[in-house]
Amino acid sequence: MEMERRGYLQAGGFIPEVVLEHPEMVQGLHKEFIHAGTDVVEAFTYYGHREKLRAIGREDDLEKLNRTALKIAREVANETGTLMAGGLCCTTVYEEDNLETHDKVRSMFKEQVEWAAEEGADYIIAETIHSYGEAKLALEAIQQHGKGIPAVVTLSCLIPDETMDGVPIAEACRKLEEAGAAVVGLNCGRGPSTMIPALREIRKACNGPIAALPVTYRTKEDCRTWHSLKDPDTGKDVYPRNLACVMSSRDDIRECAEEAKAIGVNYIGLCCGNSPFYFRELAEVYAPTCLIPDETADGVPIAEACRKLEEAGADVVGLYCGRGPSTMLPALREIRKACNVCN
Ligand SMILES: [Zn+2]
Repeated sequence: MEMERRGYLQAGGFIPEVVLEHPEMVQGLHKEFIHAGTDVVEAFTYYGHREKLRAIGREDDLEKLNRTALKIAREVANETGTLMAGGLCCTTVYEEDNLETHDKVRSMFKEQVEWAAEEGADYIIAETIHSYGEAKLALEAIQQHGKGIPAVVTLSCLIPDETMDGVPIAEACRKLEEAGAAVVGLNCGRGPSTMIPALREIRKACNGPIAALPVTYRTKEDCRTWHSLKDPDTGKDVYPRNLACVMSSRDDIRECAEEAKAIGVNYIGLCCGNSPFYFRELAEVYAPTCLIPDETADGVPIAEACRKLEEAGADVVGLYCGRGPSTMLPALREIRKACNVCN
């Protein structure tokens, strides 16, 4: 969605052609999210699968798009000391009762998993999957063709708390965990307030790490998914072009992160609607100490830098921007001890 808002992706189709047309934009956006606090660079292959590429007449670019996205992500991860993840998503062709579609889905997942493993992914994410059966096929493809790299499998829960093929969502997560997924959970579909109750159920059902990546929109009990949201003023549907009027506030996201942490969600992120300023809220709740050290970019301890500027004649020294209240306060204590003037 961030690429769409910037004019590099078409709403509705959401096919990541930007990877080929403007790779520098993809690289830049990865870096912005890392600066905001993420630990993972996910290759931008969402909807970069055979079915979507065929739909726009670019099937010949399929492998090139995937490998380019993976290489960009690997480079940024290496440069920043973060992890790189390959990505699978809903194929749009899976039908529970049609075994031919299962074979098609298997081969679509297989090729993407092989490319991700060859390009050095640290793990593979299978995301925004609505059916338990399709999620199971994704997990199996990662296990069979991923050279042993871990699988993170997140389902997308729509209106009822169950998958499209009728498995209660917590049970579907438990089964995927038992089948060997390293992390299971939810992404997309729902915003913070309607995803949190389902996460409680998943936490009860699973023993291992669970994931939450809500969309950043104000879903509510009578509009559980972002697709069903209405403009509060006009009552018109807002998906997918007019979502700005139902965006979450920063506090919504912060409170969601605090609640998720209290529930015991181990793997946190944001899905559609995410932007670096939202991500920073998560990072401050989940990892306040590993964001950035208490020193300047050229390595001077922050309190000492302030004292030196004071000694050199500044009337006021201190900190501005970068951190929120909870991570700035400890640094301010050090500065107070080191300086005599106001700060
Ligand atoms: Zn999403």
